Amino acid sequence: MSNYIVLVKQVPDVTQITDNAFDPESGTLIRSRLASVINELDAQALAFANYMKWQSRDNGAKILCLSMGPPMAEEVLRYALSRCADTVVLLTDKTLGGADTVATANPLAYAIRKIAKEVLKGCSDYYVVCGMQSVDGDTAQVPPQIAEELSLPCIAYVTGAEFKNNRFEFTRIISGGSQVVAAKKLPTVITVAKYEYPLFAPFARTRWANKTELIRWGSNDIKAAYIGVPGSKTSVIRVFPPGKSSRKCRQVSDVKSLANLLVESFKSSDDQAGRSGESQTAHYVLPSRRASRLDRGFEGTRKEKEDYEILGAKLRELGITDISRIDDTIKEKILAVAGEHFHKKALEDMIDGFKLTEPAYKGEVWVVAEHSGGVVHPATFELIGKARDLADSLETKVGVCIAGYNVEPMTKELIYAGTDNIYIVEDKLLRVFDPTAHRKAVADAISTYWPQIVLFAATPQGRMLAPMVSYRVGCGLTADCTGLDIKDSSRKGQIGILLQTRPALGGNVMATICTKNSKAQMATARPGVMKRLSPDNLRTGKLIRHKVQLTEDDVSLQVIKMELGTGQVNFGAKVIVSGGKGMQSRDNYEQLVSALCNSLQKKLNTDVERGASRAAVEQGFIERVHQVGQTGTSIGPKIYVALGISGAIQHMIGVANTKTIVAVNSDPNAPIFKQCDYYLVGTVEDTIPQLVRELE
Ligand SMILES: Cc1cc2nc3c(=O)[nH]c(=O)nc-3n(C[C@H](O)[C@H](O)[C@H](O)COP(=O)(O)OP(=O)(O)OC[C@H]3O[C@@H](n4cnc5c(N)ncnc54)[C@H](O)[C@@H]3O)c2cc1C
Repeated sequence: MSNYIVLVKQVPDVTQITDNAFDPESGTLIRSRLASVINELDAQALAFANYMKWQSRDNGAKILCLSMGPPMAEEVLRYALSRCADTVVLLTDKTLGGADTVATANPLAYAIRKIAKEVLKGCSDYYVVCGMQSVDGDTAQVPPQIAEELSLPCIAYVTGAEFKNNRFEFTRIISGGSQVVAAKKLPTVITVAKYEYPLFAPFARTRWANKTELIRWGSNDIKAAYIGVPGSKTSVIRVFPPGKSSRKCRQVSDVKSLANLLVESFKSSDDQAGRSGESQTAHYVLPSRRASRLDRGFEGTRKEKEDYEILGAKLRELGITDISRIDDTIKEKILAVAGEHFHKKALEDMIDGFKLTEPAYKGEVWVVAEHSGGVVHPATFELIGKARDLADSLETKVGVCIAGYNVEPMTKELIYAGTDNIYIVEDKLLRVFDPTAHRKAVADAISTYWPQIVLFAATPQGRMLAPMVSYRVGCGLTADCTGLDIKDSSRKGQIGILLQTRPALGGNVMATICTKNSKAQMATARPGVMKRLSPDNLRTGKLIRHKVQLTEDDVSLQVIKMELGTGQVNFGAKVIVSGGKGMQSRDNYEQLVSALCNSLQKKLNTDVERGASRAAVEQGFIERVHQVGQTGTSIGPKIYVALGISGAIQHMIGVANTKTIVAVNSDPNAPIFKQCDYYLVGTVEDTIPQLVRELE
């Protein structure tokens, strides 16, 4: 009999943001001004657990819900009770506040142990069911880190479950397709990526839910190892509003104008317009290489940089170039003119900062390679490009860690892309990606060679592996970075640290994060943001074999079925026309997308290829090889036409490098309209035949 422990979180409602939710001075979102709701994917996870219980026909199975948060998080537990939960536990304590993912996963894992022992009376036949990620953090790190703490298998990105032969088989999203897997043992952690059948609350059950006692635990009840700010391994150093989209977001009112814009945009010679990517900042130089000891132009925050500029100017004015000459009299002179900018303690810290020249971390800059079927994932090459840049700044080498079986044929391409050393971990048990086996291999290599930076691609595989590896080796991790820079925080005694910038709260704010209490700095970076270097076939590199002892017990999942895109598709074409779920049917897709492709091909005299959203592929409108996006292919054509596509982040990641994005959607509030250059509100059935006529 399986039981279900569902994790639910109260989050700010980012779907209902009013103007007064933004700070007028800083432009950042004020979280406390947003309403609180249950995290949507957690509500789906709860419904999914209920569905699993129904599938197993086991009426005796219990659904327990656990939430960590302030006392008001009780509301989401009442929500769960009113739907299907039997028992709920609220973990609430001031000391738990301000936690990063490690200091969230750790207490939750301790609470799960306590639930298993005390509420489930030692029963180990249970699933921990979580939403894939929460809208405030968006990291997807907590569930794999809980699995790591509890030494459990973890099945991420689940979209379906079937109870067969007395066990569950789960369908889940993987890079390039989908997989059906089963856990080799219980308990198991699963993360739900999509389950669209919501639960409703009957009146009688709601009344019962409001009267039912919650179990409340504080920090002392669970005695977790990492809690709150002190237990965290990352800290946020800056929050700022996201930059304005470089897309035009212009509504076009008639089909004729849309046809003209398509032709003009194609003919325009500006190949870069609209393309997004990591913004370029000045190339970091180590303090020992700078013209002057007083040059602190690479501080991480504007305040630190400005304070050092003021201090440097004053020292130059006083004719001081030798830091050791700064005595109390000179300090008084500096404070007399700069006291409004920094106080005495800060001045002393800054002077100490001048003495530092060595980076805070030592070792290479590593990329963990992702590959499948003997082919390296494109995001790995992008990360190598970034790693090269970071390593050159830090005057160290680029390493790639590749775990698998028969991986050597892939190493040449990795070296040409900018790698110096390749760390190969080979074993038959690593032939197919298994989270725990690969985690063991990669974590073992990291803790042997200790690179200072480790980068993973923010693909479903990387977003699963990175949290497990970082948790295992005791390091902080920042997810889904869109910017990675080396900077100093001289005043805090840190030189050459990695600043990791990422979107948060559904992309409404940006946060810059740095690692603390860790031996290495780790991050996952979004595919399509970093730039791949042109391959240099003359580059040479070293292969280093690293042996890790693996046994069958290290493999946690049984892969039952795998569906990957196969076939030929020309995503190098200059124009790509994609259809989404809004195409309604395979016939519509066939007729409308093909008709528009043919007329654009004739009119523009160029290759035009068909693409699709994941939802369209899942509806069977076209083969998976045409899927564009995070788990499909990332493309960068001159023109991308999105028909009946809503604009989910996982889709838009794949078209970030497109010059012009054109969208047609019947919903005037479709999110894609805020991420494209030109859009027309209308149905594809009406618009496309007209557009074809106009083009012809
Ligand atoms: C781990 C993970 C990886 C993923 N990877 C990818 C990926 O690689 N690629 C990808 O695309 N998605 C991916 N997804 C799924 C993604 O989150 C979205 O669910 C998906 O992109 C939605 O596809 P869609 O826009 O076609 O469908 P929907 O979101 O359902 O949107 C359909 C749109 O069509 C419009 N519409 C309806 N009828 C009409 C009409 N008659 N005429 C015009 N418009 C109409 C609607 O207004 C709506 O905006 C991933 C999800 C996860 C969790």
